[in-house]
Amino acid sequence: MYTELGLFIGGKWSNGAGRKAEAVVNPANEKTLAELPHASKADLDEALEAAKKGFEVWRKTDSWARGRVMAKAADIIRERAEHIAKILTQEQGKPFAEAKIEVGAAADVIQWMAEEGKRAYGRVIPSRLPGTRTFTTQEPVGIVAAFTPWNFPAITPARKIAGALGAGCSLILKASEEVPGTAVELAKAFADAGLPEGVLNLVFGVPAEVSEHLLSKPEIRKISFTGSIPVGKHLAKLAAGGMKRATMELGGHSPVIVFDDVDPEKTADFAAAGKFRNAGQVCISPTRFFVQENSYKKFAERFTEKAKSLKLGDGLDKDTKMGPLANARRLDAMANIVADCQSRGAKVRTGGSRHGNQGYFFEPTVVTDIQDDSKLMTQEPFGPVAPIIPFKTFDEVVARANSLEFGLAAYAFTTSTKTANAISDALQSGMVGVNTFTISMAETPFGGIKESGYGHEGSVEGLEAYTNKKFVAQA
Ligand code: NAD
Repeated sequence: MYTELGLFIGGKWSNGAGRKAEAVVNPANEKTLAELPHASKADLDEALEAAKKGFEVWRKTDSWARGRVMAKAADIIRERAEHIAKILTQEQGKPFAEAKIEVGAAADVIQWMAEEGKRAYGRVIPSRLPGTRTFTTQEPVGIVAAFTPWNFPAITPARKIAGALGAGCSLILKASEEVPGTAVELAKAFADAGLPEGVLNLVFGVPAEVSEHLLSKPEIRKISFTGSIPVGKHLAKLAAGGMKRATMELGGHSPVIVFDDVDPEKTADFAAAGKFRNAGQVCISPTRFFVQENSYKKFAERFTEKAKSLKLGDGLDKDTKMGPLANARRLDAMANIVADCQSRGAKVRTGGSRHGNQGYFFEPTVVTDIQDDSKLMTQEPFGPVAPIIPFKTFDEVVARANSLEFGLAAYAFTTSTKTANAISDALQSGMVGVNTFTISMAETPFGGIKESGYGHEGSVEGLEAYTNKKFVAQA
């Protein structure tokens, strides 16, 4: 029911010289799904050679032809959505319905970039030099190394593959070793759609060894990473060593500001659904709930009721509303965050502990009466723990919302247009959702500011991230 794992190099599947290096575990029952082969340095060098050849072919393939292959891959992914989503749920844990939506979103971004690749426009600049034309063009940046994490096994690799391929680049993707099956399925879809050999290569290994090896190669001209801030900073330094272009999609700790003019209970229903999606393991997850004082009590009570009512279980069970955490590390991280709150006198209204003793389940947890300097308020929780905090004034909440080094996503709920405008202007964040948590779509730019990273994925910006601008003066 799972899938056969392998490395995909130069259009061929291999098992990395037969070394099965790592067990892939189902977080719902801790059973091994498969053994994952790791790439050796020789395999990585082979992937680089393949990507060089792939780049020569793909950059010369016209954008319409490239778009046709990519659109076909998107169609294949949609046809196989159930199959891929089952693999995704088994390896990552999220409910099947969420997995299926994610697979659909992966197909969407591939289709978007299939189209957008045709529109990598340059611009004609009125020339002040007689008899001279001045203009810019966009060219593919070259061979890309991409690194993706374990929380969104389909959409995160798809964004990187789609941007690179849409722009005419070739790619070596090191997907997460904890959720490799979904990435294998994406690679299969591209191969079946007729993608030329070497344009997309998929490897697995020890993350630090793979990134160090690939980023030391001058042929790699761009890196795209999604993951934690410390690893992003490390990879940014490696990229700087070779003056490589970089896109960094790092962590967040998104404030949610609920003003007194909205219905606190309806907003709490909505907020709890947003918070516990993928068990909170989402970089744009709503995580710091600031609620204006008159609504605070009702909001906190309703949010707590919602958290209590969530059915935990294997993501493949129909009535499961929240799956396990993706790995055992997150259980320890959650326990640590909750213990820190409690030691500072916070009130755990529900949850706070591991659920059961098989599978990495952690109870949906709501914390109130919390200090601003506690771990839950200052470090990205990346799990199902929600702090709810009262506030009085606009200026006070803006200062608290902007007080951290994160700047990925922020949300606000209000019925006043004046407040909506003021809050979206005031929040220091790459993305702002006003009265919505839907801020990630194929056609809209996704990216952070401050320590949450730089660059964008998706949309026009997500294509430009994989192109160089060339200026030409032609006398
Ligand atoms: P981690 O910092 O060890 O790893 C984060 C990701 O980076 C993983 O996918 C890992 O395989 C990869 N990685 C680690 N070292 C690397 C290296 N030297 N080169 C290339 N890739 C490398 O943490 P973790 O325990 O896997 O996850 C915990 C934290 O990571 C979370 O608390 C969260 O802050 C962050 N995270 C963020 C995202 C996101 O979408 N931005 C996704 C997953 C994890």
